[in-house]
Amino acid sequence: MVYQITNPYTNQIEKVYSNQGASEIEAALQKGDQLYKSWRNTSFESRAANLNAVSQLFKKKVDEIATVITRDMGKRFIEAQGEVLISAEIAQYYADHASEFMAVRPFKSRMGDAQLVPKPIGVLMAVEPWNFPIYQLMRVFAPNYILGNPMLYKHASNTPGSAEVFAELLIEAGVEVGACTNLFIDYEQVNQIIADKRIQGVALTGSERAGALIAAEAGKNLKRSSLELGGSDPFVILHDADLSEIEKIVGQARLYNAGQVCTSSKRFIVTNDNYEAIVKMLSHAFSKAVMGDPFAATTTLAPLSSLKAKKDLVKQVEAALSNGATLAYGDMSKNQGEDCFFSPVILTDITPGNPAYYQEFFGPVGQIYQVADDDAAIALANDSNYGLSGVLFSGDLNRGIDYAKRIETGGVFVNSYGGTLPELPFGGVKRSGYGHELSELGFEAFMNPELIVARSTPIDLDNAFGGFL
Ligand code: NAP
Repeated sequence: MVYQITNPYTNQIEKVYSNQGASEIEAALQKGDQLYKSWRNTSFESRAANLNAVSQLFKKKVDEIATVITRDMGKRFIEAQGEVLISAEIAQYYADHASEFMAVRPFKSRMGDAQLVPKPIGVLMAVEPWNFPIYQLMRVFAPNYILGNPMLYKHASNTPGSAEVFAELLIEAGVEVGACTNLFIDYEQVNQIIADKRIQGVALTGSERAGALIAAEAGKNLKRSSLELGGSDPFVILHDADLSEIEKIVGQARLYNAGQVCTSSKRFIVTNDNYEAIVKMLSHAFSKAVMGDPFAATTTLAPLSSLKAKKDLVKQVEAALSNGATLAYGDMSKNQGEDCFFSPVILTDITPGNPAYYQEFFGPVGQIYQVADDDAAIALANDSNYGLSGVLFSGDLNRGIDYAKRIETGGVFVNSYGGTLPELPFGGVKRSGYGHELSELGFEAFMNPELIVARSTPIDLDNAFGGFL
């Protein structure tokens, strides 16, 4: 496992990092465990203040951090700036809501006065992907820091710059050493950490393949886990949708972050009457894409994260075509070079027998499906192995909401673009994983709601259920 920065724009290796060994892992576990034990019985308030400082520092250093992200994985600088700012907002959100989320929850029981006390569970191991290399770390770190779960993380091997700068900035903002430790380690070392008794939770964002392996390790060791995996999200256009609203976002829905977003709209599902218009609209949006230096303001489509990612996507599109799909827009001859750029394409006529029908395409590839009516659109949306998110447009908002509720997925944005905000829960069903990040649900992912029952009346065993109560 080599951690190195290979700038996707130039395809040149810029920096190689050294891996860490058993002594660094042991030090991180020890420090994390010490913090967990002390945080269990101390107030969250100083951590909330530190998290507030983290938010301020990220805002102050937005360009510096965004530069690291763009060099690591190639996204447009303006998108990297946006990623840093939303990460700062996540930190701010958990700092601001700390007292609400950490509040004791009292309730009445026949046994006496009961309460649930939000408690941490211990040190967490996080394994994170390259596509949002700062935001993904913040999603796990911020809620768990307030709660009192320290974390170790293994970041993607192609984003070591982001991995390093994240940990450094936390320390600079006043976060305790050991609260969030970056480790450049291999898969076997991750497994060893998961097996360590000081680790109590495992969070992974990434592919199904990695998710299944990490979840198996967590299960084998009886550790709580959460998995945020891939998606092939539908963009459902009901027959009465306002196409002028769709036109504003259709390109962005697929091309943002060069199409490398788990919640990108990957399958456009449209009724017969609007089909030609949507093919034209998406083709037009794709034709406007300007590929180039991700630091240039004129660039609207960045390179993919690596040459391997590009080659894998080329193979996937070629397999789709050889299995009967139509190339409705684009020119695959433009995607044969030894650079990381992928010129966008649109696939149509994808049948269930085509492997593309059930696959995730992680890049600028739009799939458009034609259906007879709105019910068929929902049926097709649900005919997927994934269920992460989705977008649905209808001319009637309430009708749109009713149809949205029929989609088997983690969440649907009705008459809106799909997006992420700190207060919106993020999590999927089916092969998109389980558990949630962000919002109060993200705060609870690795929480122990410890039950305390205090009895103020004498014990009355005669009226108990055979001694059970
Ligand atoms: P990936 O190959 O699974 O990598 C993700 C992380 O897992 C990396 O840190 C990787 O390390 C590590 N990893 C892979 N196999 C591992 C193993 N056996 N043991 C320990 N660690 C392992 O995923 P990717 O292809 O880079 O990322 C794209 C996928 O992530 C897409 O499917 C996308 O939809 C999904 N994603 C989901 C969300 C969400 O919130 N649901 C968000 C973003 C991305 P190395 O880099 O060293 O291999």
